[in-house]
Amino acid sequence: MKIAILSRNKKLYSTRRLVEACEMRGHEPMVVDVLHSYMNIASSKPEVHVKGESLPVFDAIIPRIGASVTFYGTAVLRQFEMMGSFPLNESVAISRSRDKLRSLQLLSRRGVGMPNTGFAHDPDDIQDLIKMAGGTPLVIKLLEGTQGIGVVLAETKKAAESVIEAFMGLKANIMVQEYIKEAGGADIRCFVVGDKVVAAIKRQAQPGEFRSNLHRGGAASLIRITPTERATAVKAAKIMGLNVAGVDLLRSERGPLVMEVNSSPGLEGIETATGKDVARMIVEFIEKNAKPHRTRTRGRG
Ligand code: ADP
Repeated sequence: MKIAILSRNKKLYSTRRLVEACEMRGHEPMVVDVLHSYMNIASSKPEVHVKGESLPVFDAIIPRIGASVTFYGTAVLRQFEMMGSFPLNESVAISRSRDKLRSLQLLSRRGVGMPNTGFAHDPDDIQDLIKMAGGTPLVIKLLEGTQGIGVVLAETKKAAESVIEAFMGLKANIMVQEYIKEAGGADIRCFVVGDKVVAAIKRQAQPGEFRSNLHRGGAASLIRITPTERATAVKAAKIMGLNVAGVDLLRSERGPLVMEVNSSPGLEGIETATGKDVARMIVEFIEKNAKPHRTRTRGRG
């Protein structure tokens, strides 16, 4: 099969591993930089061009679209969908998962467990917002933050008020969330492919830190997850419409709580900690499922 990997950088671990896995299984991979691609929207025969050349019609597309290029990246992916290529994750599902508020609203509507969460932009009653998340201690997050930056633990009401006021001053969208103390500074990343969790790791924060992000010095290790955790991760990915997803869970007294569903989960941490060939599993999923024009929306969403 002709498979395009949408990625800005051929040298990234995940991109390299996906190229390798495609080649190992006898496919023809091509790395396409979305920001250098351009396309004709008006034509009845949609095309994508790079450096003056028209790209072939790929059998499948593996989107690895970074958060900062979501808007243009999903437009390029949508163009490939209109050309009939099978997207590993659909453009609509990626856009949906990139919007944290929309994602949590969708998950909560379907009864998926999550920490009590309030969203706000310019709340005129901060006390009430704090109450909404169940009082202090609580976690305040900038909606646009990644890698744990902009995630603050406020232990007292006074601290919570000042952090919320500071974020309000920045005119940022914020999330105010119940602090899951019993998670003990750890979260679980479940790597979902199709209807299975194919690998799972626990990320443990450094002593004295509650954020377990690897970028914040967290350590990853192999973990056995429970059937409920497995089912929760698969359900969350399905609700988002993602075939491949990294579902982040917190272990709480009331069961697994979903924090985030990531549509371009990295392979390095999970493959290194588990020794599993996740890239191969992704390519095998494509082999089983790629059919021309097999999207739910055909680029219409
Ligand atoms: P980012 O998307 O920037 O990584 P997260 O929302 O994943 O931000 O938060 C970063 C880390 O902080 C998580 O991996 C988790 O370890 C910890 N954390 C986040 N929210 C909570 C919470 N409500 N209760 C306990 N720990 C949390």
